[in-house]
Amino acid sequence: MITTTTETPLTAEPQAAGRTDLLGLSRERLAAVLAPVADRPFRARQIYQALYERGVRDFTEMTDLPQALRQRLAERFRIGLPEIAQRQPAADGTCKYLFRLADGASIEAVDIPDRGRRTFCISSQAGCALACSFCVTGYWGAGRNLTAGEIVGQVLAIRADRGPPMAGLNVVFMGMGEPLLNLEDVKAALDILTEGISPQRITISTVGILPGLAEMARWERRPNLAISLHAPDEERRGEIMPVNRTYPLAELMAALRRYPLEKGRKLTFEYILIRDFNDRSEDADRLARLLSGLRAKINLIPINPDPVLGRRMVPPDEARIEAFKERLRQRGWIATVRRRRGDDVSAACGQLRAFGREARGFRGKTG
Ligand code: SAH
Repeated sequence: MITTTTETPLTAEPQAAGRTDLLGLSRERLAAVLAPVADRPFRARQIYQALYERGVRDFTEMTDLPQALRQRLAERFRIGLPEIAQRQPAADGTCKYLFRLADGASIEAVDIPDRGRRTFCISSQAGCALACSFCVTGYWGAGRNLTAGEIVGQVLAIRADRGPPMAGLNVVFMGMGEPLLNLEDVKAALDILTEGISPQRITISTVGILPGLAEMARWERRPNLAISLHAPDEERRGEIMPVNRTYPLAELMAALRRYPLEKGRKLTFEYILIRDFNDRSEDADRLARLLSGLRAKINLIPINPDPVLGRRMVPPDEARIEAFKERLRQRGWIATVRRRRGDDVSAACGQLRAFGREARGFRGKTG
């Protein structure tokens, strides 16, 4: 049951009734559904390009098709690009989007420009069932899986709004949801996205769902993999990430040691720094030992505090963050501190909750 990410009642888009969404379909599927309607076999290719390369919103924009065909398409199909319900630009150039989906669910994505690079941070689920204690999306609870079209649609919609070409884009699955719990649709979305963006520019971030990792290991074109680790031992990881009970750290590390990593690539380990919880130099030492032998880099993320998270969920001071990073570096690790972006619009990591949620109050976990 969808309880948390729908602000408005579940009303199906009125004109959507009976029309098949073309967005998210692979070349083959698209050709198959178009076959009874299209006048020529090459129409599927034209329409595929219009959808994913040009990012058209409407069949009227497919001006390379005959008028009669556009009409027939509009009667039977729709282009389910997510609707931009709200756009919040931050002072640092980051821009957060709230998308409204056809069933009323809402999701967030963030456009992060950074010195000539461009990264879109997108969602894989509307909500998240994992309930990590430091994460705002998790606080609001489970939602539903996004379709491949809704996943690709976020990239297309932001690109149409902000204009960067597909080729230089980076895409990270670090928005709402756990991508490995929606792997089928994430894979279908990747198959489309990787026609325009190299898989090396795409990163899937996961808590480490083991069956999902095993599945990804079999893919031919794998995106980069980032693991949300956040604690250097079973006990503390279990304390902040309930999923550690299902997939314990030891098994996760074993799976990562087996994971087929392409030449020249590294795993990324994300480690949220929480004051007086996992930020001591012994913790850095433990982390270094835990990762030993892996080709990896470590991304330290000072926790973004949020009123729903409780008073103990605050970042260490700068000196302590630097000391933690230095300790890892002394032990030979590549460690970086993720700069906070989009702070002033709550677009920072772990703060995607879908707008309008603040109003409900922050009771419960604040203590
Ligand atoms: N479920 C996946 C994808 C979400 S990614 C995963 O957990 O990896 C979201 C990233 O933001 C993860 O690394 C997550 O741990 C991090 N994050 C969540 N809450 C945060 C917070 N309050 N401050 C900083 N980072 C946070």
